[in-house]
Amino acid sequence: MVAVGRVCQLNSEVVIWLVRDTCRVIDNPALHRAFQISQSQGARVLALACLEPRRWAGQQFGLSRVGFHWMRFRAESLRVLRQELETLGCGLWLCSEEPVYAVNRIQQQYSVTTIVCDESVATEERSEVARLEAEGYPTVPVFVDDLFRFEQLPFVLDELPATFSKFRKVIEKKPSLLPDRPIDSVSMGGWIASVWADPAGWQEMLETPLDSSAEVPIHGGTESASRHWKAYLDARALSHYKQTRNAFQGLMQSTHLSAWLAHGCISPRQIWWDTLHYEKDVEANESTYWLRFELLWREYFRWYSRASDWTLFRRTGPSDQVFGCDQNARRFESWKTGHTGCDIVDAAMRELNQTGWMSNRARQLVASHLIYELNLEWRLGAAYFESQLVDFDVASNWGNWAYIAGVGADPQGGRIFHLNDQADRYDPDGAYRRRWLS
Ligand code: FAD
Repeated sequence: MVAVGRVCQLNSEVVIWLVRDTCRVIDNPALHRAFQISQSQGARVLALACLEPRRWAGQQFGLSRVGFHWMRFRAESLRVLRQELETLGCGLWLCSEEPVYAVNRIQQQYSVTTIVCDESVATEERSEVARLEAEGYPTVPVFVDDLFRFEQLPFVLDELPATFSKFRKVIEKKPSLLPDRPIDSVSMGGWIASVWADPAGWQEMLETPLDSSAEVPIHGGTESASRHWKAYLDARALSHYKQTRNAFQGLMQSTHLSAWLAHGCISPRQIWWDTLHYEKDVEANESTYWLRFELLWREYFRWYSRASDWTLFRRTGPSDQVFGCDQNARRFESWKTGHTGCDIVDAAMRELNQTGWMSNRARQLVASHLIYELNLEWRLGAAYFESQLVDFDVASNWGNWAYIAGVGADPQGGRIFHLNDQADRYDPDGAYRRRWLS
């Protein structure tokens, strides 16, 4: 990372960089933009992260909005971000209120000229920006954790292809359409170094011990993200990713990057370009391509969430399909706690509850079981995942659940998995089930 110092005239005007889901300095177009604006205005940059009560303390379907693992990971990622910012002479302002209240509080001390944040993916984040604008704060949303900027896409949002396959084909048909190269320099203007007091309970949260049985790397922050990704590439695990990615366990079977991606500790563009370099320097095969294919799934769900808006969260989903199902508390409890009697589902749910993690294939199986065998409403499953996953990401979670339930972007109208066959195929010796059921 190259840091370029610039002299800045000190005054009380500030550009706020509102840290949402991107806890990193490197390759952060929003931070970059905040500096450009501050320099053109002769203002300073103030970095602000809000532990919004709607998420940190809110509930849906009687379930908390974020779970311990997600909170702990986010707190750690913010701690690391703060350290990175401090080396540049900047503080990270933390608060436990919604952004509009935090900004109003800052406005009492400084004159807020502009707020720069990442472009919203879902309804709540969009209304957060609308509230800031309604209070009179000019807000500049920037595409930060997407592979592509909106202007790069060969269609408007209303014409987003209805399925992932169509989306992928449109993208892949244009070889010149590539994610921007990662930004590796931070152009420093003036920073606001001093910060207000951290929210109550912040230090305690950082000190809460983590579950050592988790296989997934559980430390938030850019440094552990880069270390893990480098180890994955050095082990040449990418060369057999396509064959191993469906495994229930094994740190190098899939990349395990999802938590770092969800908390913005590593950029998807960085991963994309690293796979291209790997293909040049090490080897290119179907597996090395397949990781980009999966990153395109993530990308598709981000645009799908933006296009679907609030319909992504309604019972009938974006495609407005009605199915017979209910919210039976007893059946839901058996699923949540891993006591359905279906061993692969129970093992996976217990892993999720204990560690905040579950492989992609296991997520598909437990979702299929909840929807098609327990006959429960899909939103209960999505909300429970939201409350437990360390890598919870609104677009990927709700998009995948809607897809499996047949109310989303699946052209087949839903996915039913045959659980015994799947368990035999991906856990032939029963090691995964024994591990979590014993
Ligand atoms: P890898 O196989 O190594 O994939 C690399 C990256 O590609 C992932 O980190 C992820 O960013 C992306 N990716 C891979 N598969 C998908 C997919 N199906 N959809 C979207 N992106 C994908 N992923 C989340 O990050 N957050 C969630 O909240 C989430 N909820 C899910 C809920 C359900 C019901 C299902 C079926 C899937 C969900 N996924 C979610 C997608 C996927 O399960 C995880 O991204 C993946 O298991 C993470 O492991 P990995 O990083 O080792 O993935």
